[in-house]
Amino acid sequence: MSKNKKEKQREIWRKASLKYYNKNKDGEDFREKTRKVRRNYYKKNRDKEDFIKKNLEDSKRYYENNKEKVMKKKSERDERNYIKDKPKISAKNKIRYRVINGKMPKANKLKCNRCEKNATQYHHSDYNKPLEVEPLCGRCHKLEHVRND
Ligand SMILES: [Zn+2]
Ligand SMILES: [Zn+2]
Repeated sequence: MSKNKKEKQREIWRKASLKYYNKNKDGEDFREKTRKVRRNYYKKNRDKEDFIKKNLEDSKRYYENNKEKVMKKKSERDERNYIKDKPKISAKNKIRYRVINGKMPKANKLKCNRCEKNATQYHHSDYNKPLEVEPLCGRCHKLEHVRND
């Protein structure tokens, strides 16, 4: 009895999924047809001078209308990044020069402050204190930044 019920249920599911399949198949056809029409329209027109001119003018106009906004946004972004990175860059440079001038050992001459490996880099915990650094290995340095950034 329950087996019959199950069979009936299965039959209903089968019909439903068949219906669903047919519906979507048509949808796919429809989409494909639309795509074809659009593609053909483009193919037919792409070599026509007017079409090219219009496209060119559209994109030009878009650029002209948005140029100021786009450029402003870009320069603001650059300035923000510059201000943000300035202490970092200058702190890193200070350490680099000290190492080059022999005032500090190279990081790879020291042990990592967190583990037993050799250090590879100097880490700044605060870029506004450019001379306060600690030697860290690559892995510990990465972890340090994951934790603090
Ligand atoms: Zn380490
Ligand atoms: Zn660091």
